[in-house]
Amino acid sequence: MRKIVATSHGGTAVACGFSKVSRRDVLFGGVAASALPLLGVAGCGAPSPVPPQGSAAANGNRLFSLGVASGEPGPDSVILWTRLAPEPLHGGGMGPAPVPVRWEVAEDEAMRHVVRRGTALARPDLAHAVHVEVAGLAPRRWYWYRFDAGGEASVVGRTRTTPAPGEALDLFRFAAASCQNYQHGYFTAYRHMAAEDLDLVVHLGDYIYEGGPRASFPRRHDDVEADTLAGYRNRYALYKLDPDLQAAHAAFPWCVVYDDHEVDNDYANDREVRQRVSPAAFLRRRAAAYRAYFEHLPFRSAQMPRGANMGLYRSMEIGGLIDLNLLDTRQYRTDQPCGESGGKWHPQCAGARGPGATMLGREQEAWLYGRLGAGRARWSVLAQQVPIMERRRMIHGDHRYNMDKWDGYSAARDRLFTAVRQHRVPGLVALSGDVHSAWAGTLLTDFQDPRSAALGTEFVATSISSGGDGRDMRPRARKMLAANPGIAFYNGQRGYARFTVTREAWRTDYRVVPHVSTPGAPIRTRASFAVARGRPGPEPV
Ligand code: FE
Ligand code: CA
Repeated sequence: MRKIVATSHGGTAVACGFSKVSRRDVLFGGVAASALPLLGVAGCGAPSPVPPQGSAAANGNRLFSLGVASGEPGPDSVILWTRLAPEPLHGGGMGPAPVPVRWEVAEDEAMRHVVRRGTALARPDLAHAVHVEVAGLAPRRWYWYRFDAGGEASVVGRTRTTPAPGEALDLFRFAAASCQNYQHGYFTAYRHMAAEDLDLVVHLGDYIYEGGPRASFPRRHDDVEADTLAGYRNRYALYKLDPDLQAAHAAFPWCVVYDDHEVDNDYANDREVRQRVSPAAFLRRRAAAYRAYFEHLPFRSAQMPRGANMGLYRSMEIGGLIDLNLLDTRQYRTDQPCGESGGKWHPQCAGARGPGATMLGREQEAWLYGRLGAGRARWSVLAQQVPIMERRRMIHGDHRYNMDKWDGYSAARDRLFTAVRQHRVPGLVALSGDVHSAWAGTLLTDFQDPRSAALGTEFVATSISSGGDGRDMRPRARKMLAANPGIAFYNGQRGYARFTVTREAWRTDYRVVPHVSTPGAPIRTRASFAVARGRPGPEPV
């Protein structure tokens, strides 16, 4: 097992100001030395929030209180992220001036063999976040990185490039996480994830929750419901102060997609579920939410939102082994059908089956079907938000479905399945989140007929903390397992899914913690499944 590399970069706390920035340092990135006097003012004299134990802030990092992250790895490049925030919960505390941030990438944890370095500008219009696109790296190898600004150094993060495109890779390990409601519990699962042997982490949405504080939970949101840029920024800062989340970001590169709570519960495109505001007003809120999301995660510039639009969906090929398609099931979807408002269970209606129903929007659908057709990798992965497999429940004598999931968009699911059949995708694996429980199942042509053609395998990852401690099985889930022959597994505890992918076989381990209401829970593997390429469906291991 590897040790956690998010080490404190000791003893560099600076009382105030940027006294340790030399003239040469500032000129390094072509930033005018005249910017210097502006820099030292930020945050001086203002009270600091009490940082959580073990976080970058607790380790004496005032500017780098939110830690570091990397993401969007390619064979020769990766994005490095940080945000300067000496007053993270109150707007950041950086003032109106841009600030130069130096970065270094090394081949070793001690940062002795630096292979790339430069200076990025932390801009006030991006909340003093930086997204450094580092190029010229070697494929499939670990790198370490850190930032410094104002005489302070960040912790050292670790990242990894993907294999070269033509490389016949035979092993890739990654994990999927979703749904980390801060109020519902501790992010203990991330502490354990940071110690895993992984090449990548994929986050499937609900990175923050927008709601206001609730007294009955183990932790508390510190502000009212976020619906402005300032509100969303402070909410991201609260989450990113968490030391376990920081450790998981510092240990691996991440690829992330949002779900609903990064904006508003169960929204669909320009509609909020509660229908209190006009679509135009909701799009203004969405613009603020998408911007704060971009600011706080390691995205490439291609994902920078323009107003209320974010080019979130994208793909990456991992060494001929995995074609990872990161999808967006929120921004372009049609409204939930059947008079549905949010996650209630309804009998299926014509709206779900109608040809107008779309989960991805027509453009993204066409793009995805093109990807599936062109896919040369052994496994085609759909990394997305809401469960694709049918999950019916018998309520008051009829079959009901959750209209926020693909069950509410069965016409769109049929089109997806038609494309999968047409292109004969032999290794289709769907990864989902959203439902705060783990499910494993087979994507069947007819979900009620276990002998119908199997098109792919779906693994739904459980939540990091949303839903609180949870339990292994619930009566409702037991009934759903009985009513849905394509579903092989349910677990209602917190954790994440870990994947070990080889050319012939895919393995999923459901990693769970027994509680999140108090810190320090151990982790264990609750269940493991294997999929043979060309024979979809999870087989218990
Ligand atoms: Fe959630
Ligand atoms: Ca969700």
